[in-house]
Amino acid sequence: MATPTIPDDLLPEDGRFGCGPTKVTQAAAQAVADHWQDLLGTSHRQAPVKDLVGRLQDGMADLFQLPDDYEVLLANGGATAFWDMAAFGLIEQRSQHHVLGEFSSKFAKGVAAAPWLEDPVLVDVPVGTRPLLGPTPDDCDAVALVHNETSTGVMQDIQRPDGGALVMVDATSGAGGLPVDPSQFDVYYFSLQKGFASDGGLVLALASPAAIDRIERIGASDRYVPPFYDLPTVVSNSRKRQTYNTPAVATILMAVHQVETMLEAGGLDAAVADCRAKADHLYGWAEERDWATPFVADPDARSLVVGTIDLDESVQADDVTAILRSNGVVDSESYRKLGRNQLRVGMFPAITLADVQAYTACVDHVVEHLL
Ligand SMILES: *Cc1c(COP(=O)(O)O)cnc(C)c1O
Repeated sequence: MATPTIPDDLLPEDGRFGCGPTKVTQAAAQAVADHWQDLLGTSHRQAPVKDLVGRLQDGMADLFQLPDDYEVLLANGGATAFWDMAAFGLIEQRSQHHVLGEFSSKFAKGVAAAPWLEDPVLVDVPVGTRPLLGPTPDDCDAVALVHNETSTGVMQDIQRPDGGALVMVDATSGAGGLPVDPSQFDVYYFSLQKGFASDGGLVLALASPAAIDRIERIGASDRYVPPFYDLPTVVSNSRKRQTYNTPAVATILMAVHQVETMLEAGGLDAAVADCRAKADHLYGWAEERDWATPFVADPDARSLVVGTIDLDESVQADDVTAILRSNGVVDSESYRKLGRNQLRVGMFPAITLADVQAYTACVDHVVEHLL
């Protein structure tokens, strides 16, 4: 069967719909090029790069309207490294984990394997759903939530559960596109290659005074912590607008560009409204098609940033995404391990409503050809 060509007037302006890494804007890449000589290739211990890190920290504090006593921490290694940092430096003895899919499960597994911690308590739910937020058990000193489970397209409302546990939120794909109130978390951490349209490798963590206290208390104990994962070191370096080891300056440049663009466009509320418009379009479109259904049954749990759409047996998602890909519309394959006949569509702040509309028009075109 010849690969059909999608007419130009149906194609999105930008064909990247991945869920991480995802679309980087031309303007962000241009910001990197513009600073090829005054920032790239210069010392991260000197004022120019430190000022850039400061702009990133201030921009995030503004975007999330952080209280004055919250801090913006910055470290290398991405969210995956932060899970280990949390196991070493945030959990005292036992944590509770909401497990909604692959990403939240990976964190829980890492904690379960840590010999210095007690076995975590899991709140496990079927994929495509989310748990009710109950009180944290008395013997848990930390609770792990996930703002957006990227593997399933389920979002969680971030609310501080009763019980006084430290609230750690994996916001890697949710940050910047989903609403959040800082009083409801202690640590809200995310990499920059999803909602902030940058490259991978760095992790930011918005930390409350209780989180900083916890970091200092565990840091003063005799627990062995490898230097790379040592949160007291992350805190002291972040206060100096530095990182323990060398960061990717280009990633920071792109993230500064993106966060400042979002602030100019009206801040987090505006970004969330924009993501909601894209999500309404995508799920509404799926509901109108005989051969498509939103995977997440509960409309309130459907993510505003990662849309998962199941296809009927009559249409193979692999065929659809292969044809899209050959037309330059890429990365809407479903999360492999979920094993569903599904499209997964990134709707992060940098992805436009017009392009999500064009995406669904392209899928209509391809499915018409396949059926
Ligand atoms: C992508 C993702 C991660 C992993 O991020 P890395 O930067 O690759 O370490 C963790 N959690 C969630 C929810 C994610 O979407």
